Amino acid sequence: MTRIGIIGAGAAAAAAAWAIDTQTEATITVVEKSGGLCGRAATRRRGAVTYDYGANYLKAEDDRVVDLVTGTLDTEGLVDIGEPVYTFDGAGQVAEGRDADEHKWSYEQGLTQIAKRLFGRTAATVHRNTRATAIHRRGESWEVSAGEERFGPFDILLVNPPAPQTAALLADSTWDDPLREKLIDALGAVDFRTVWTAIVGYPFEIDRPYYALVNIDNEHAIGWIAREECKPGHVPDGESVLIIQASHDWSVTHYDDPPSENISRLAQMASEILDDERLATPEWSDWQGWRYAQPETGAPTDLLRAAEGHDLYCLGDWTVGTARLHGALRSGLETADRIRQSR
Ligand SMILES: Cc1cc2nc3c(=O)[nH]c(=O)nc-3n(C[C@H](O)[C@H](O)[C@H](O)COP(=O)(O)OP(=O)(O)OC[C@H]3O[C@@H](n4cnc5c(N)ncnc54)[C@H](O)[C@@H]3O)c2cc1C
Repeated sequence: MTRIGIIGAGAAAAAAAWAIDTQTEATITVVEKSGGLCGRAATRRRGAVTYDYGANYLKAEDDRVVDLVTGTLDTEGLVDIGEPVYTFDGAGQVAEGRDADEHKWSYEQGLTQIAKRLFGRTAATVHRNTRATAIHRRGESWEVSAGEERFGPFDILLVNPPAPQTAALLADSTWDDPLREKLIDALGAVDFRTVWTAIVGYPFEIDRPYYALVNIDNEHAIGWIAREECKPGHVPDGESVLIIQASHDWSVTHYDDPPSENISRLAQMASEILDDERLATPEWSDWQGWRYAQPETGAPTDLLRAAEGHDLYCLGDWTVGTARLHGALRSGLETADRIRQSR
């Protein structure tokens, strides 16, 4: 039995855990800092409303991931958003324009279903609300500290957090190898887009021909507005929910401002773009700051592969240069392939 440890329970980790569990004789132990699964593909519920407040949907851009989601996993509740994505510019002018993605998938119960369904098919032990604080090399094995708790020993350690958080973990690790410093520098230098997100709900329907609006010239404080009611099962009839994602610059500038002020500003701007003044005053709201929303640069593959020679596997969207959910899932599947080939 190979003892596998995984830090983080994002989509990449879930895909890797599923593939390892089906391909290899292994025990799998996961530590996840939050109370949920699927990381940045995140879902919340509020009464009868369900909303995806991180990733909006899964694209059908990777055949292996499409097979996984439509062929291997249960497709019950898998929904495809039919309406197109329109555009808007810095002046808030809306236009038809962006090519529609072939599929825009979520689940009636939200995107977190992907990780829930993948982990649900494994015998992995998942420790939620458990933040890894350091990793340690002991002879040929790895251990993980989470405050006072220790997990391991593991023959193989997978590390799923965004690159800067993985760099911070390595900085607090005991691993006497020159590769550690190189990885800390390279992973700490991976740039991420920051996105401050407001979620706003209304007790009336909004009639529009599009699912979402994307800013195409990077000249607006808002980057994306999506209508969650276009996902079947997410919003009861007679209500509307907008997911408003601020641009990187706006998000960085206002990241620590009072959330109520940010929500008001973003709702006001969204009301102007959608040309409906009722949208400036939502009935309810929620928010999330994503400091590390989407990687904009990649990490050096040679260093990541060198770490794998020490049974340390980094995985996630930033390791494959695809800042998308399908990229994260693909990275998990490919990580499991390399582990299998290495044994
Ligand atoms: C606002 C936003 C909008 C997006 N829109 C889309 C979209 O529409 N379509 C799309 O395809 N993609 C979208 N993405 C990108 C997509 O969400 C990511 O590419 C994908 O979810 C990344 O998965 P991952 O497994 O690589 O990493 P993550 O989801 O970040 O998983 C890492 C996990 O590690 C955990 N963790 C971190 N540190 C520790 C620690 N010290 N100890 C234990 N656990 C830890 C985290 O809690 C998390 O669960 C969006 C992302 C954001 C934020």
